[in-house]
Amino acid sequence: MSEPLGPGGPGMSAASAFAGMRRVSPIVFKAGCPDCRGRFELAASALRLAIGATSRTTFYSFTCPECGSAVRKPAGERVVELLTGGGVRTLRLHSTV
Ligand SMILES: [Zn+2]
Repeated sequence: MSEPLGPGGPGMSAASAFAGMRRVSPIVFKAGCPDCRGRFELAASALRLAIGATSRTTFYSFTCPECGSAVRKPAGERVVELLTGGGVRTLRLHSTV
């Protein structure tokens, strides 16, 4: 009863989905709130990334959609890459020390 697959079946769509990860599908980031312990997915526009002089002053922040509290979490190199690659607004903090 199943319809025959045309040229480029599941394998093709998987490849194109992977190639299109950049822009085609909206990117969401999984986040958790330490306050209400809610877990949710946030769009890139809901997150902000602040890059400081050191990794200790580099963090990302967002407002919890469940309880509304401002959440701030440290961002490692990997997270920074993910967030910037996902189109998250990045703020560079300048230190004069
Ligand atoms: Zn919360």
